[in-house]
Amino acid sequence: MQHRVIVLGAGYAGAIAAGRLAKRLRREEVAITLVNAEPDFVERVRMHQLATGQDLKLRPLSEMFAGTGVELRLAKVTGVDVDRRTVAVIDPNGTEELAYDTLVYALGSGWNTQGVPGTAEHAYEIASRPGALRLRERLARLDSGQTVVVVGGGLTGLEAATEIAEARPDLDVALAARGGLGDWLSPKGREHLRKVFGKLRITVHERAAVTGVEADRVVTADGKAIPAAVTVWTTGFAVHPIANATALEITGTGQIVVDGTMRSVSHPDVYAIGDAAMVMGPGEKPLRMSCATGGPTAWQAADAIAARLTGGKLPNVPIRYFNQCISLGRKEGLIQYVTADDRAVQAVLAGRLAAVYKELVCKGAAWSVANPTLGLPTRRRRVTRERAPAGSAAEALA
Ligand SMILES: Cc1cc2nc3c(=O)[nH]c(=O)nc-3n(C[C@H](O)[C@H](O)[C@H](O)COP(=O)(O)OP(=O)(O)OC[C@H]3O[C@@H](n4cnc5c(N)ncnc54)[C@H](O)[C@@H]3O)c2cc1C
Repeated sequence: MQHRVIVLGAGYAGAIAAGRLAKRLRREEVAITLVNAEPDFVERVRMHQLATGQDLKLRPLSEMFAGTGVELRLAKVTGVDVDRRTVAVIDPNGTEELAYDTLVYALGSGWNTQGVPGTAEHAYEIASRPGALRLRERLARLDSGQTVVVVGGGLTGLEAATEIAEARPDLDVALAARGGLGDWLSPKGREHLRKVFGKLRITVHERAAVTGVEADRVVTADGKAIPAAVTVWTTGFAVHPIANATALEITGTGQIVVDGTMRSVSHPDVYAIGDAAMVMGPGEKPLRMSCATGGPTAWQAADAIAARLTGGKLPNVPIRYFNQCISLGRKEGLIQYVTADDRAVQAVLAGRLAAVYKELVCKGAAWSVANPTLGLPTRRRRVTRERAPAGSAAEALA
């Protein structure tokens, strides 16, 4: 009888974990199923590029996982029952319940309206492909001189505002940031940011907390109205509500609480990785939702699962930050070097070289997802742990 591992979500974290598990475990002993709603891998880090009319390489999951031993299941996850060890999915043929012995939860995140009135009705998002495509269509219909306001001064907001301003110099692009422009960056980093924003003629509204979005403007906490033919909302990400509806221990933001091996602290058969997990990083600070942490959490979870199943030594993959790679359009970039716990140091790389560096980082991340079992030594050991306990719901469904 095979041990059944189900990986939910084939984004950066889930796809990497599934590939790594396939390299660590024997096919005849462990069945690995990867469930994803969409048929191809979506490079979320390029959604601002998609929104501004650039075409992204299509990466079908069926091709990526062909011959790897990972079974791909294209279906939408609608629920998880961690007590019965089952996952409910729906696809064009109907609903089904899949049983697992070990679950890897990697469903990622979407945009976060933060409950600001009017956002859901009037704003556009770039946290998902459908959202980016909707914005792409809207931007294409804008006439010269119309205003686009990007709300959110974080990494995604900076990338979105510069990408739009570069692609459409005829538009009036503005950024509304709660704090100062790039105020977490080093002085050199901030200076470069201001230079690029100036060159691209992006209006910056600093210390502007947006409290309402209307059809043609946004309103700030101090009562100011900023005209906006299009509002792009980028104030962080929110996890999908599926984990929230389970018995798993989660945080107030809905992320699954895990230990250092990415194992749920409440349900030892469940691992969570990527944006869906609340992982403590260096300095006991929670890791931010990013690819930079999605990959290492996937390696850690896959290696821990393999070690626990085969009686091997538990791994300790170092999870730390090195830099923040920010694209500022296609021709400009900023690499802000940081401490292990993500605080800016003096050193930066800026300009065209930084844009090339960022492009290589994005390409490298996509390559490692698209080639999930390449470049990784095969170390398959025998499973020594028992499968689902007799009498459990997962056993009954086997
Ligand atoms: C515009 C933009 C720029 C970014 N830039 C950077 C950057 O420069 N550097 C960086 O480190 N991070 C960046 N990020 C953040 C990064 O993209 C995310 O942190 C990362 O994608 C998280 O990976 P993940 O695997 O956890 O989730 P995701 O990549 O979101 O993958 C989740 C997967 O689960 C699937 N899924 C979701 N719900 C269901 C369901 N119910 N049923 C079945 N499947 C489902 C999705 O289709 C997807 O395939 C950026 C994000 C955006 C939007």
